[in-house]
Amino acid sequence: MSYVHRRQILRAGLVSLAHWVVGGLPSPEVQAETRRGVFDAHLHIPSDNGENFQWSLVTRNMAEFVAYLDKCGVRRGIISSSWSNKAQTPEDYRNGNREVVKYVERYKGRFRGSGVITPHRIDEALREIETCHRQYGFVWLGEFCNYMTGYRYDTPEWAEVMKLATRLNLVMQIHTNTREMQHLAENFPDTTIVFPHLGGAREDIFARIRIVAEHKNTHIDLSGSGIERVGILEKAVREIGADRVLYGSDFVINEPSAVLARVKNAFLTAADREKILFRNVERLLAGAGPAARRRP
Ligand SMILES: [Zn+2]
Repeated sequence: MSYVHRRQILRAGLVSLAHWVVGGLPSPEVQAETRRGVFDAHLHIPSDNGENFQWSLVTRNMAEFVAYLDKCGVRRGIISSSWSNKAQTPEDYRNGNREVVKYVERYKGRFRGSGVITPHRIDEALREIETCHRQYGFVWLGEFCNYMTGYRYDTPEWAEVMKLATRLNLVMQIHTNTREMQHLAENFPDTTIVFPHLGGAREDIFARIRIVAEHKNTHIDLSGSGIERVGILEKAVREIGADRVLYGSDFVINEPSAVLARVKNAFLTAADREKILFRNVERLLAGAGPAARRRP
Protein backbone atom coordinates (compact mmCIF):
# COMPACT_ATOMS: atom_id res chain seq x y z
CA MET A 1 0.00 0.00 0.00
CA SER A 2 1.48 3.33 -1.04
CA TYR A 3 1.81 6.42 1.13
CA VAL A 4 -0.79 8.16 -1.03
CA HIS A 5 -3.24 5.32 -0.53
CA ARG A 6 -2.79 5.43 3.23
CA ARG A 7 -3.33 9.17 3.21
CA GLN A 8 -6.49 8.79 1.12
CA ILE A 9 -7.89 6.16 3.45
CA LEU A 10 -7.04 8.28 6.48
CA ARG A 11 -8.75 11.27 4.89
CA ALA A 12 -11.80 9.16 3.98
CA GLY A 13 -11.89 7.91 7.56
CA LEU A 14 -11.77 11.45 8.91
CA VAL A 15 -14.57 12.51 6.57
CA SER A 16 -16.68 9.58 7.79
CA LEU A 17 -15.86 10.42 11.39
CA ALA A 18 -16.80 14.06 10.84
CA HIS A 19 -20.17 12.95 9.45
CA TRP A 20 -20.77 10.81 12.50
CA VAL A 21 -19.84 13.61 14.88
CA VAL A 22 -21.54 16.48 13.07
CA GLY A 23 -24.60 14.97 11.45
CA GLY A 24 -25.04 11.35 12.43
CA LEU A 25 -24.60 8.60 9.86
CA PRO A 26 -22.97 9.55 6.55
CA SER A 27 -25.23 9.21 3.53
CA PRO A 28 -25.27 5.79 1.83
CA GLU A 29 -23.44 7.32 -1.14
CA VAL A 30 -20.63 8.61 1.04
CA GLN A 31 -20.40 5.27 2.82
CA ALA A 32 -20.29 3.40 -0.49
CA GLU A 33 -17.71 5.65 -2.09
CA THR A 34 -15.58 5.73 1.05
CA ARG A 35 -15.44 1.97 1.21
CA ARG A 36 -14.94 0.93 -2.39
CA GLY A 37 -15.24 3.76 -4.90
CA VAL A 38 -17.60 4.29 -7.80
CA PHE A 39 -16.86 1.89 -10.67
CA ASP A 40 -17.64 3.05 -14.20
CA ALA A 41 -18.41 0.09 -16.46
CA HIS A 42 -18.14 2.09 -19.68
CA LEU A 43 -15.09 4.26 -20.43
CA HIS A 44 -13.35 5.09 -23.74
CA ILE A 45 -9.78 6.32 -23.32
CA PRO A 46 -8.15 8.95 -25.58
CA SER A 47 -6.01 6.85 -27.91
CA ASP A 48 -2.30 7.29 -28.54
CA ASN A 49 -2.96 7.59 -32.29
CA GLY A 50 -5.10 10.71 -31.66
CA GLU A 51 -8.43 8.87 -31.97
CA ASN A 52 -10.80 10.38 -29.43
CA PHE A 53 -14.58 10.06 -29.29
CA GLN A 54 -14.99 13.50 -27.72
CA TRP A 55 -16.65 15.86 -30.22
CA SER A 56 -14.68 18.91 -29.13
CA LEU A 57 -11.53 17.98 -27.28
CA VAL A 58 -10.97 18.90 -23.65
CA THR A 59 -9.37 15.67 -22.35
CA ARG A 60 -6.72 14.83 -24.91
CA ASN A 61 -4.57 12.28 -23.15
CA MET A 62 -4.67 9.71 -20.38
CA ALA A 63 -3.49 12.11 -17.66
CA GLU A 64 -6.32 14.53 -18.48
CA PHE A 65 -8.78 11.64 -18.74
CA VAL A 66 -7.87 10.43 -15.25
CA ALA A 67 -7.90 13.96 -13.79
CA TYR A 68 -11.45 14.43 -15.09
CA LEU A 69 -12.60 11.15 -13.57
CA ASP A 70 -11.09 12.33 -10.27
CA LYS A 71 -13.11 15.53 -10.52
CA CYS A 72 -16.28 13.47 -11.02
CA GLY A 73 -15.57 11.07 -8.15
CA VAL A 74 -15.17 8.04 -10.43
CA ARG A 75 -12.41 6.03 -8.80
CA ARG A 76 -12.37 2.87 -10.91
CA GLY A 77 -13.50 1.75 -14.33
CA ILE A 78 -13.36 -0.52 -17.35
CA ILE A 79 -11.42 1.04 -20.20
CA SER A 80 -11.36 0.26 -23.90
CA SER A 81 -9.58 1.91 -26.82
CA SER A 82 -11.23 4.00 -29.53
CA TRP A 83 -8.35 2.98 -31.81
CA SER A 84 -9.75 -0.57 -31.62
CA ASN A 85 -13.33 0.56 -32.23
CA LYS A 86 -12.33 2.43 -35.38
CA ALA A 87 -9.96 -0.31 -36.58
CA GLN A 88 -9.55 -0.57 -40.33
CA THR A 89 -7.17 -3.51 -39.94
CA PRO A 90 -6.42 -6.11 -37.23
CA GLU A 91 -3.20 -4.18 -36.62
CA ASP A 92 -5.30 -1.21 -35.47
CA TYR A 93 -7.31 -3.13 -32.87
CA ARG A 94 -4.20 -4.91 -31.66
CA ASN A 95 -2.52 -1.52 -31.15
CA GLY A 96 -5.62 -0.24 -29.35
CA ASN A 97 -5.84 -3.24 -27.05
CA ARG A 98 -2.15 -2.96 -26.20
CA GLU A 99 -2.49 0.66 -25.21
CA VAL A 100 -5.25 -0.49 -22.85
CA VAL A 101 -2.80 -3.01 -21.35
CA LYS A 102 -0.26 -0.22 -20.94
CA TYR A 103 -2.67 2.09 -19.11
CA VAL A 104 -4.07 -0.66 -16.89
CA GLU A 105 -0.48 -1.27 -15.84
CA ARG A 106 0.38 2.41 -15.43
CA TYR A 107 -2.65 3.19 -13.24
CA LYS A 108 -2.44 -0.02 -11.24
CA GLY A 109 -5.64 -1.01 -9.48
CA ARG A 110 -7.67 1.81 -11.02
CA PHE A 111 -8.77 0.30 -14.34
CA ARG A 112 -9.67 -3.09 -15.77
CA GLY A 113 -8.90 -3.61 -19.43
CA SER A 114 -11.39 -4.50 -22.12
CA GLY A 115 -10.53 -5.82 -25.59
CA VAL A 116 -12.23 -4.79 -28.81
CA ILE A 117 -12.03 -6.44 -32.23
CA THR A 118 -13.92 -6.17 -35.49
CA PRO A 119 -15.04 -9.45 -37.08
CA HIS A 120 -14.05 -8.60 -40.67
CA ARG A 121 -11.08 -10.98 -40.60
CA ILE A 122 -12.54 -13.48 -38.23
CA ASP A 123 -9.50 -15.74 -37.67
CA GLU A 124 -7.38 -12.80 -36.58
CA ALA A 125 -10.22 -11.46 -34.45
CA LEU A 126 -10.61 -14.76 -32.58
CA ARG A 127 -6.86 -15.00 -32.09
CA GLU A 128 -6.80 -11.49 -30.63
CA ILE A 129 -9.60 -12.34 -28.17
CA GLU A 130 -7.59 -15.36 -26.99
CA THR A 131 -4.49 -13.16 -26.60
CA CYS A 132 -6.39 -10.45 -24.70
CA HIS A 133 -7.68 -13.05 -22.29
CA ARG A 134 -4.81 -15.49 -21.87
CA GLN A 135 -1.88 -13.09 -22.14
CA TYR A 136 -3.32 -9.85 -20.77
CA GLY A 137 -5.91 -11.22 -18.37
CA PHE A 138 -8.91 -9.39 -19.83
CA VAL A 139 -12.27 -10.87 -18.76
CA TRP A 140 -14.31 -8.15 -20.46
CA LEU A 141 -14.73 -7.44 -24.18
CA GLY A 142 -16.26 -4.34 -25.77
CA GLU A 143 -17.86 -1.94 -26.04
CA PHE A 144 -18.46 -3.37 -29.50
CA CYS A 145 -19.92 -0.78 -31.87
CA ASN A 146 -20.84 -2.42 -35.17
CA TYR A 147 -21.95 0.85 -36.79
CA MET A 148 -18.43 2.31 -36.57
CA THR A 149 -16.89 -0.07 -39.07
CA GLY A 150 -20.04 -1.51 -40.62
CA TYR A 151 -20.53 -5.08 -39.40
CA ARG A 152 -23.58 -6.97 -38.18
CA TYR A 153 -24.41 -9.09 -35.15
CA ASP A 154 -26.51 -11.64 -37.05
CA THR A 155 -23.71 -13.20 -39.10
CA PRO A 156 -21.87 -16.53 -38.69
CA GLU A 157 -18.69 -14.54 -37.95
CA TRP A 158 -20.27 -12.72 -35.03
CA ALA A 159 -21.67 -16.01 -33.75
CA GLU A 160 -18.06 -17.26 -33.66
CA VAL A 161 -17.10 -14.27 -31.52
CA MET A 162 -20.00 -14.93 -29.13
CA LYS A 163 -19.15 -18.62 -28.96
CA LEU A 164 -15.52 -17.97 -28.05
CA ALA A 165 -16.50 -15.36 -25.43
CA THR A 166 -18.90 -17.89 -23.90
CA ARG A 167 -16.28 -20.64 -23.86
CA LEU A 168 -13.74 -18.33 -22.19
CA ASN A 169 -16.45 -17.02 -19.84
CA LEU A 170 -15.95 -13.37 -20.83
CA VAL A 171 -18.38 -10.48 -20.41
CA MET A 172 -19.56 -9.02 -23.74
CA GLN A 173 -20.49 -5.31 -23.78
CA ILE A 174 -22.33 -4.66 -27.03
CA HIS A 175 -23.85 -1.46 -28.41
CA THR A 176 -27.09 -2.37 -30.17
CA ASN A 177 -30.34 -1.02 -31.45
CA THR A 178 -33.42 -2.70 -29.99
CA ARG A 179 -33.71 -5.27 -32.77
CA GLU A 180 -30.08 -6.33 -32.45
CA MET A 181 -30.47 -6.47 -28.70
CA GLN A 182 -33.41 -8.85 -29.00
CA HIS A 183 -31.47 -11.03 -31.44
CA LEU A 184 -28.40 -11.35 -29.19
CA ALA A 185 -30.37 -11.85 -25.97
CA GLU A 186 -32.44 -14.62 -27.57
CA ASN A 187 -29.70 -16.43 -29.44
CA PHE A 188 -26.91 -16.35 -26.86
CA PRO A 189 -28.56 -17.20 -23.53
CA ASP A 190 -25.31 -18.60 -22.10
CA THR A 191 -23.26 -15.47 -22.76
CA THR A 192 -22.95 -12.75 -20.12
CA ILE A 193 -23.97 -9.63 -22.00
CA VAL A 194 -23.98 -5.96 -20.98
CA PHE A 195 -26.07 -3.73 -23.22
CA PRO A 196 -25.08 -0.07 -22.93
CA HIS A 197 -27.70 2.70 -23.05
CA LEU A 198 -31.31 2.83 -21.85
CA GLY A 199 -32.39 4.23 -25.19
CA GLY A 200 -33.73 7.34 -26.91
CA ALA A 201 -37.47 7.45 -27.52
CA ARG A 202 -39.90 6.35 -24.81
CA GLU A 203 -41.00 3.16 -26.57
CA ASP A 204 -37.39 2.30 -27.30
CA ILE A 205 -36.42 2.70 -23.65
CA PHE A 206 -39.38 0.62 -22.47
CA ALA A 207 -38.58 -2.15 -24.99
CA ARG A 208 -34.91 -2.28 -23.99
CA ILE A 209 -35.78 -2.52 -20.30
CA ARG A 210 -38.23 -5.31 -21.11
CA ILE A 211 -35.67 -7.30 -23.14
CA VAL A 212 -33.11 -7.15 -20.32
CA ALA A 213 -35.78 -8.01 -17.75
CA GLU A 214 -36.73 -11.12 -19.75
CA HIS A 215 -33.18 -12.42 -20.29
CA LYS A 216 -31.31 -13.23 -17.08
CA ASN A 217 -27.90 -13.35 -18.80
CA THR A 218 -28.20 -9.70 -19.84
CA HIS A 219 -27.52 -6.40 -18.08
CA ILE A 220 -27.93 -2.74 -18.90
CA ASP A 221 -25.45 0.07 -18.32
CA LEU A 222 -26.85 3.53 -17.73
CA SER A 223 -24.64 5.50 -20.12
CA GLY A 224 -25.95 7.66 -22.93
CA SER A 225 -29.49 8.90 -23.34
CA GLY A 226 -32.47 7.80 -21.28
CA ILE A 227 -30.97 8.23 -17.82
CA GLU A 228 -31.82 11.96 -17.80
CA ARG A 229 -35.54 11.08 -17.90
CA VAL A 230 -36.55 11.09 -14.25
CA GLY A 231 -38.22 7.83 -13.28
CA ILE A 232 -36.59 5.63 -15.92
CA LEU A 233 -33.84 4.37 -13.62
CA GLU A 234 -36.47 3.48 -11.03
CA LYS A 235 -38.47 1.66 -13.72
CA ALA A 236 -35.38 -0.27 -14.85
CA VAL A 237 -34.61 -1.36 -11.29
CA ARG A 238 -38.25 -2.30 -10.66
CA GLU A 239 -38.52 -4.45 -13.81
CA ILE A 240 -34.99 -5.82 -14.24
CA GLY A 241 -33.93 -5.90 -10.59
CA ALA A 242 -31.02 -3.92 -9.15
CA ASP A 243 -28.54 -6.77 -9.74
CA ARG A 244 -28.43 -6.27 -13.51
CA VAL A 245 -28.25 -2.48 -13.74
CA LEU A 246 -24.73 -1.00 -13.95
CA TYR A 247 -23.36 2.48 -13.60
CA GLY A 248 -21.57 3.47 -16.82
CA SER A 249 -20.94 6.89 -18.33
CA ASP A 250 -19.48 6.51 -21.85
CA PHE A 251 -16.83 9.09 -20.91
CA VAL A 252 -14.94 10.60 -22.91
CA ILE A 253 -18.15 11.11 -24.82
CA ASN A 254 -20.54 11.86 -21.96
CA GLU A 255 -20.29 13.42 -18.52
CA PRO A 256 -19.70 10.82 -15.77
CA SER A 257 -21.25 12.90 -13.00
CA ALA A 258 -24.52 13.43 -14.93
CA VAL A 259 -25.34 9.72 -14.59
CA LEU A 260 -24.04 9.71 -11.02
CA ALA A 261 -26.38 12.57 -10.11
CA ARG A 262 -29.41 10.59 -11.29
CA VAL A 263 -28.28 7.42 -9.50
CA LYS A 264 -27.79 9.39 -6.29
CA ASN A 265 -31.12 11.24 -6.48
CA ALA A 266 -33.20 8.28 -7.64
CA PHE A 267 -35.81 6.67 -5.40
CA LEU A 268 -33.76 3.59 -4.61
CA THR A 269 -32.61 1.83 -1.49
CA ALA A 270 -29.04 2.37 -0.34
CA ALA A 271 -28.33 -1.30 -1.07
CA ASP A 272 -29.59 -1.00 -4.66
CA ARG A 273 -27.56 2.15 -5.19
CA GLU A 274 -24.41 0.35 -4.07
CA LYS A 275 -25.14 -2.51 -6.45
CA ILE A 276 -25.49 -0.09 -9.36
CA LEU A 277 -22.45 2.01 -8.47
CA PHE A 278 -19.97 -0.82 -8.00
CA ARG A 279 -21.16 -4.15 -6.61
CA ASN A 280 -22.68 -5.50 -9.83
CA VAL A 281 -19.65 -4.79 -11.98
CA GLU A 282 -17.36 -6.23 -9.30
CA ARG A 283 -19.49 -9.38 -9.26
CA LEU A 284 -19.40 -9.69 -13.07
CA LEU A 285 -15.62 -9.28 -13.13
CA ALA A 286 -15.11 -11.77 -10.31
CA GLY A 287 -17.40 -14.28 -12.00
CA ALA A 288 -15.70 -14.09 -15.40
CA GLY A 289 -12.69 -15.98 -16.72
CA PRO A 290 -11.38 -19.47 -16.11
CA ALA A 291 -10.72 -19.13 -12.38
CA ALA A 292 -14.39 -18.37 -11.80
CA ARG A 293 -15.50 -21.17 -14.12
CA ARG A 294 -13.61 -23.75 -12.07
CA ARG A 295 -15.43 -22.76 -8.90
CA PRO A 296 -18.25 -25.12 -7.89
ZN1 LIG B 1 -19.50 3.80 -25.54
